[in-house]
Amino acid sequence: MSGASSMNPYLDDDLRALAEHAGRYAEERVAPGFLERDRTRVLDRALMREMGELGFIAPELPEAFGGQGLGSLAAGVIHEAIARADLSLSYVNLLASLNGQILSAHGRPEVVGPWMRRLVRGETLLAIALTEPRGGSDAANLALRIERVGDEYVIDGEKTSISAADQADAVVVFGRTGAPQSGAHGVTALLVPCDAPGLTRSRFDCHGQRAIGRGSLFFDGVRVPVDHRLGEEDKGFVQVMQGFDFSRALIGLQVLAVAQVALEETWAWVVQREAFGQPLSAFQGVSHPLADFDTQVQGARLLCLQALWLKDRGLPHSAEAAMCKWWGPKLAYDAVHQCLLLHGHGGYDRGLMEQRLRDVLGFQIGDGTAQIMKTIVARARAGRKAVPA
Ligand SMILES: Cc1cc2nc3c(=O)[nH]c(=O)nc-3n(C[C@H](O)[C@H](O)[C@H](O)COP(=O)(O)OP(=O)(O)OC[C@H]3O[C@@H](n4cnc5c(N)ncnc54)[C@H](O)[C@@H]3O)c2cc1C
Repeated sequence: MSGASSMNPYLDDDLRALAEHAGRYAEERVAPGFLERDRTRVLDRALMREMGELGFIAPELPEAFGGQGLGSLAAGVIHEAIARADLSLSYVNLLASLNGQILSAHGRPEVVGPWMRRLVRGETLLAIALTEPRGGSDAANLALRIERVGDEYVIDGEKTSISAADQADAVVVFGRTGAPQSGAHGVTALLVPCDAPGLTRSRFDCHGQRAIGRGSLFFDGVRVPVDHRLGEEDKGFVQVMQGFDFSRALIGLQVLAVAQVALEETWAWVVQREAFGQPLSAFQGVSHPLADFDTQVQGARLLCLQALWLKDRGLPHSAEAAMCKWWGPKLAYDAVHQCLLLHGHGGYDRGLMEQRLRDVLGFQIGDGTAQIMKTIVARARAGRKAVPA
């Protein structure tokens, strides 16, 4: 986004300069491989390292862990810039910010420190594994077993639908240390290096987001030292899940950036393409849907920036983050769909628009569906007792 429309109360001159810097980089270095990476299904580690060298990965992390101590809004504007060029590659930013926050808040510095410094330099990729074959919405109802044996935890079970499952170098895993019926109060989180003996992985054939991909993780007696625990034993869910408010606002920005670039290209296209002796834009059936989506995308983006602004001030933002997470992906999908249709038959060919549509769709499910997000909003408004499930 450029010009006056990029100006708003959340972004000062420094953040706008950072956004422009990241935007130029993304256009030159990330955008050219967008279609190719969808075919090869491989994240470009050289690009990851470049992004790290430029300070584009998790800039909000403390300097002691290799970050820059910038706010969440800095992470947000960089995330938008990379996602605009390739949503799949911007998972590098998303996973680093989500996992980096979890590690820095809940890990032992001597264990997580080296991982975080590599994370920020773009030298390592961390995944997060909550979902199990039984289901993801009822997220606290975990079956993966974590047993403490002496100075180690032993992990047995399966995680599924995990982004970057087969490309990650380590994974934050949530499993049950408490009794089977202990719900959210018997869950422990661990940092597990992916080369740990007994851990095997698979890759799914995904509809979109193919460069990052998803897959399953199978744990067969995997052992990690007790010091790899994140947060307290049995408190993994209650303590660590708070990190998801951050990723929900970032996901909103991520998908809306894709909608924004699709809208910009489509405005240019409908001015230049003619039918019935006039530019397509002369028909209100063309220009009004675009104006409609443009309005909503601008509004939803401001909500995402507001959620990050609240986070940076230590103010409650769970409801706002959940709003970003359901509204953004639905709106982005509908907006890109409209853009694709206005490109006529060309929009249906393999290419930018259809790939964007496939890419944004994943986030109507990943990180929690709209129903679950609306329950979070409802609980914030009406109270947990009034909205039990
Ligand atoms: C692109 C993508 C990336 C992902 N990445 C990760 C990842 O990195 N790590 C990870 O752990 N997981 C990841 N997931 C999994 C994702 O978090 C789950 O798919 C999601 O939480 C939903 O769980 P489920 O698929 O098991 O659906 P289910 O829980 O079986 O739900 C099925 C349907 O029922 C609805 N439903 C369920 N309960 C309710 C209710 N109480 N009220 C109303 N409706 C309800 C749901 O909204 C959904 O539409 C990813 C998924 C996708 C698609």
